[in-house]
Amino acid sequence: MKEILLVKYGEIILKGGNRSRFEKTLIENMSNALKNVAETKITVAQATVYVDVSDAEKIDLVTERLAKVFGVVSIVKASVCEKTIESIENTAKAYLKDDLISGKRFKVEAKRSDKTFPLNSIEISMEVGGFLDDNFEGLIVDVHNPEVTVKVEVRDTAAYVYCRENRIKGQGGMPQGTGGKATLLLSGGIDSPVAGHMMAKRGTKIEAVNFFSYPYTSERAKEKVIELASILAQYTSSVKLHIVPFTEIQLAIRDNCPEQHMTLLMRRFMMKIAEIIAEKNGSQALITGESAGQVASQTLAALNVTNAVVKMPVLRPLIGMDKTEIIERAEKIGTFETSILPYEDCCTVFTPKNPTTQPTLSKIEKSESHLDFDGLVKKAVDETETVIIYPKK
Ligand code: ATP
Ligand code: MG
Repeated sequence: MKEILLVKYGEIILKGGNRSRFEKTLIENMSNALKNVAETKITVAQATVYVDVSDAEKIDLVTERLAKVFGVVSIVKASVCEKTIESIENTAKAYLKDDLISGKRFKVEAKRSDKTFPLNSIEISMEVGGFLDDNFEGLIVDVHNPEVTVKVEVRDTAAYVYCRENRIKGQGGMPQGTGGKATLLLSGGIDSPVAGHMMAKRGTKIEAVNFFSYPYTSERAKEKVIELASILAQYTSSVKLHIVPFTEIQLAIRDNCPEQHMTLLMRRFMMKIAEIIAEKNGSQALITGESAGQVASQTLAALNVTNAVVKMPVLRPLIGMDKTEIIERAEKIGTFETSILPYEDCCTVFTPKNPTTQPTLSKIEKSESHLDFDGLVKKAVDETETVIIYPKK
């Protein structure tokens, strides 16, 4: 029996005249995600992507990979058969024998896009339903509340039979690359990888910037950030990561500025440097993992002060989320375990005891005037190292 994957996508259908561009990108991204996984043939027709996997043993692995591709709403294994009612019935009987067990409530739902097929959708459902009811002991027909929904799709090229309850949920969202490009400030914490994932889910191509304070933070802390980027890359195919040396800036702030302003001054340097890197790589926005009120540097007054140093829009997808909600997402996307590894972040090393929570821009700018802001920024940008991170296996 020939098996194939049927992949459904959601919001792209709404894209009107741009739909084919979105579909094309989705298919490219699906092929990329499967490049070193299995040989496949991918085609699209009538709002469904068909993935024909040459090596039948790899079909589950392919499903797992496709479930991470943004734009994919669901994936299901289906049996392909000839477009005759006998073939559909016999295929359903053989293919779904493990689903159609005694005592189960079931129904058949047919869809006919090939209008030349002699039976219409309702007739197909009734025929196949009657046949399965006759062939399996103890099944109960229940069209309102079924446990097993046998789906039959009669399409131009063939007919497909599957069980709706076997569908696997995808990520949803929009295909990577259809939503512009943005630069993510990626720390080793819980929040920023989630923020990056949320924007990538809207189709945005992500580059990442990390500020690294060697020797105050260890090589392990850097590896942790690389690991987080490689988990994000599972969803985006790769992530370009810019590693910015930050120690000199932190020492300059520590030695020349009031302690309670330290965090905000560091945050402003980060934003400015990230903006310069973002402009160079063609990004249209910055992304951070900030959430209102989470820490002193994330009060609205503090966010105003950090925002004031950049012109580019700053996207903060977590702004209204609670920490517990962020953690749930981190667990779901697979970054949580890495984020909680205990290696210190560059900010934790230089945290003031009593950071200001209600700063004013003028006071912060005054503190900052003790430093050669532009010179320090330029040096950090010049010394930035860039690496391309590929998906974690
Ligand atoms: P996270 O859990 O992502 O580390 P956080 O709650 O610890 O966030 P902060 O340390 O105040 O918050 O940082 C706020 C945001 O600034 C982070 O979400 C991230 O986008 C950015 N950021 C902080 N530290 C770094 C860093 N070392 N490198 C890159 N970006 C950083
Ligand atoms: Mg942090």
